[in-house]
Amino acid sequence: MEIITKNPQETQKLAEKIAKDLLKKGRSKEEDMAIIIALEGDLGGGKTTFVQGFVKGLRVKEKILSPTFVLVKRFILRPAFRQRLRRGEQSQGDKIKNKNFSNFYHIDCYRIKNSREILDLNFEEIIRNPRNIVIIEWADRIKEILPKKRINIRFEWIGEKERRIKISN
Ligand code: ADP
Ligand code: MG
Repeated sequence: MEIITKNPQETQKLAEKIAKDLLKKGRSKEEDMAIIIALEGDLGGGKTTFVQGFVKGLRVKEKILSPTFVLVKRFILRPAFRQRLRRGEQSQGDKIKNKNFSNFYHIDCYRIKNSREILDLNFEEIIRNPRNIVIIEWADRIKEILPKKRINIRFEWIGEKERRIKISN
C-alpha cells in the first residue's frame, strides 16, 4: 500500500488509524511474537511524526518527543478506552477494547553503532512477547536481528510537506 501525505497531520492521522485498527483487530492466541513495525527512510522523513500519531491512536497518555538519549521507551496500554472525538463530531465515540496488548515500545536506532546495543536492552525479550506492539525507527540499522514477520513502513521525501509512505508486510 502506498499513500502520499500532504502535511504532518495527515501522517499522524494515518498512524492513528493503523494503531486503532491493530487494537480492534486483536490477535489469536497462537501468536507467539510481538507486532513489529519497522520504520525506514531519511532524516526528516516523518518517522517520529508517525510515532506521535500512533501513540495518539493507542491513547497512551505520555507525549512523545524524539527520544534522542533513550533508545528504548516503554508505554503501558489501557485495556479499554473511548475513541477520541474529532472537532465537530457529535457522537459519543466507540469504545475500543484492548484485550490483547499490554505494552507499546518505541525504539529509535538512530544513534546506535551496531545491533548489539539493542540486544543489550532486552530486545529479544521485548519482541518475544505477543502482548507487545513495537515500533522501530531506523529499523534498517538492525536488519540482521529483526524478525521476518513484521510490517515495514518506508518514508520518502517528495517535497517540503509531502511524503510518500509505503506499507508492506
Ligand atoms: P524522522 O523521525 O523520520 O527523522 P521527523 O518526524 O522527526 O522525521 O521529522 C519530520 C519533519 O518533517 C517534521 O518537522 C514534520 O513537521 C515535517 N513534515 C512535513 N510534512 C510532513 C508530512 N507529510 N509527514 C510527516 N512529516 C512532515
Ligand atoms: Mg525520528
